[in-house]
Amino acid sequence: GKPVCECNACYGGPSCSVFLTECIADADSGDPMFLEPFWVKHAASSTIVVPGWHRMSYEFNDGSLVSKELDARIRMLHAVVGNAVTDGRYIVFGGGATQLLHAAVHALSDPFSPSRVVASTPYYPVYREQTEFFNSQDYKFEGDASLYKNTRVCEGNFIEFVTSPNNPDGQLKKAVLEGQYVKTIHDLAYYWPHYTAVPAPVEEDLMIFTLSKLTGHGGSRFGWAIIKDEAVYERMLNYMSLSTYGVPRETQLRVLKLLKLATENEGKEMFNFGYKTMSNRWRKLSKTMSTSKRFSIQELEPQRCSFSQKLRKPTPAFAWLKCEREEDKDCNAVLNSVNVTGRDGSLFGAESRYVRLSLVKSEDDFDLLLERMGLLVSRENDDS
Ligand code: PMP
Repeated sequence: GKPVCECNACYGGPSCSVFLTECIADADSGDPMFLEPFWVKHAASSTIVVPGWHRMSYEFNDGSLVSKELDARIRMLHAVVGNAVTDGRYIVFGGGATQLLHAAVHALSDPFSPSRVVASTPYYPVYREQTEFFNSQDYKFEGDASLYKNTRVCEGNFIEFVTSPNNPDGQLKKAVLEGQYVKTIHDLAYYWPHYTAVPAPVEEDLMIFTLSKLTGHGGSRFGWAIIKDEAVYERMLNYMSLSTYGVPRETQLRVLKLLKLATENEGKEMFNFGYKTMSNRWRKLSKTMSTSKRFSIQELEPQRCSFSQKLRKPTPAFAWLKCEREEDKDCNAVLNSVNVTGRDGSLFGAESRYVRLSLVKSEDDFDLLLERMGLLVSRENDDS
């Protein structure tokens, strides 16, 4: 007969009640579906309706491509959270942080003196993949920023990606290179109280944020860049104008609605939900891994947060798992033996004995991952 429902990946049978023991615990992607229950709870107040005649024009009534109300709401959000300075700075909207990352590389590069694009290892793989894909004469991906740390950076320009907290390991990071020939792109996708303590507002020249990691709406494709320098701002606007002619007005409308709710009551409800969920997950995973000698995960210390005014437990978006045994050079293969899959460390410029495990997916995904990791650790203890 017909199935009565669309089953979750690990369940089958006519009423989705049969657990499929062979199913894969997929901890590869960083899709923050952990926030879904928050939006289910606020379904009515976060809904928008767009009639067919509404917002048809390319431009807003004032001829611009950006909603002034949304620009103002984003500035208010940063003031509430205290994670970035927006006063006197420009804001550019993009189709997710993904589009803005490349717009920023374009804006900071100089056709007369090609730039070397770097990031300190382990780094988010898209920096390399995108820079190589666009294959411009104006810039080239050159790998690990730390390799250039002690060389005198005076020949040619550098563009350094700084990800804080870092994807994959959750550490707060600073630029490795410095000097007048170094420009930085601060990717602050995870600089929200869900994932980290927020010690102070960041005041860098070019900062990138995304709705995906803030509210969980990865599919809306919305990000923003906060820019100090007017010429850089103009170059980023030009990139947006020529690549897509701006961010869809439907998206801007939805984002405004979501951010109104997210900033209600000083953002307490959404960020408390995020912190509670993510700290529970890290506590459970840390406990499971604590008896293992074969595997380790990154160490993170409790830290004071200026947003919550408290000492916070660690709440990283990812576990950066290391296979400690000499023979476990391919750590993902070891995980695959218990039907767990993560992202291979070599993509992050590290060794394959590292794997990134996503902790931001749905509760079901996390529970399955935890169960399988428990199995792996208990087998190790049986062996010894
Ligand atoms: N930067 C980092 C560090 C990320 O982890 C991600 C998403 N995985 C992005 C940027 C891209 O986010 P978006 O969905 O906004 O394109």
